[in-house]
Amino acid sequence: MSRFWSSLVHELKPYVPGEQPKIADLVKLNTNENPYGPSPKALAAIAAAAGDDLRLYPEPTGLALRAAVAAHHGLGVDQVFVGNGSDEVLAHTFQALLKHERPLLFPDISYSFYPTYCRLYGIAPVEVPLRDDFRIAIGDYDRPAGAVIIPNPNAPTGIALPLAEIETLLAQDPDRVVVIDEAYVDFGAESAIALVPRYENLLVIQTFSKSRSLAGLRVGFAIGQRPLIEALERVKDSFNSYPLDRLALVGATAAFEDQAWFETTTARIVASRTALVDALAGLGFSVLPSAANFVFARHASAKGEALAAALRSRGVLVRRFGAPRIADFLRITVGTDAQCERLIGALREILDESS
Ligand code: PMP
Repeated sequence: MSRFWSSLVHELKPYVPGEQPKIADLVKLNTNENPYGPSPKALAAIAAAAGDDLRLYPEPTGLALRAAVAAHHGLGVDQVFVGNGSDEVLAHTFQALLKHERPLLFPDISYSFYPTYCRLYGIAPVEVPLRDDFRIAIGDYDRPAGAVIIPNPNAPTGIALPLAEIETLLAQDPDRVVVIDEAYVDFGAESAIALVPRYENLLVIQTFSKSRSLAGLRVGFAIGQRPLIEALERVKDSFNSYPLDRLALVGATAAFEDQAWFETTTARIVASRTALVDALAGLGFSVLPSAANFVFARHASAKGEALAAALRSRGVLVRRFGAPRIADFLRITVGTDAQCERLIGALREILDESS
């Protein structure tokens, strides 16, 4: 017999993250992690902090990390908010800024955590369909709404919006909060952080999980003008006054300051992406133009589900999504060149067998 309280939680449809397999030697191209390790300086900072001081609570506002991010962008430290992964920053954003009597707009194909947060916080979403070419058309967002959230580049398509389009979106309604989720921006899109001083309705969210290769440390941040950042701080302080632990604070700060490591590893991934796109096209895939550390590709004749299963049985993991319009696409993380070659070799075998 169900109790009255069970119905509340059972209405939630939690987000299901990509598989983190227990088998060691899989080629793991399913969750957009960075194939290169974190900055050695970040690892050294974490090792140095892993001592007796762990008995002490961390600094509660993430001040040193916020100062590093703020200085890099020429902004004030009070314009930066940090959290436990950008998923947590997003969660606070949904609660603090996107809950409105008017609807929240986002693309119908985008980060699948957004509908989950809407259900969790009782927000009414309106999902705006992507165009036939899987692009976001900014004109489609010129309608009454409380707020908009868009990933740039979009996920899982990988397609980037130019900054001028984001400015158009911001100008459509200055009373509407616009959140740009830039988890993948460093791999080829333009960041909207440059627009923050001019638009009080803009919040930009970034992560250390992708271009900084620290998914395991769980650090993300938001940048915006003071009233938006203050809203996030109020939610955070009502929820968990220590969002980042001591190791995350020092590790992320050191990673952010190691610009050389960031530039070298990011450039390698971008170069591997070009080679991967060419190889996939050579096998009969059409690949959406990617500005991210993954590609979204569909084969002219083979079904996505069968391809993903055959790849898995050959030790290569990729991601697939259930929505009918994208069911035949594979989302493939750009790995090292050796990993990409394993993927292409496995796909060649699978396609040869089925022809
Ligand atoms: N936004 C988008 C668009 C993502 O794909 C992801 C990664 N799954 C995130 C945010 C969250 O990243 P993290 O919590 O690791 O910072």
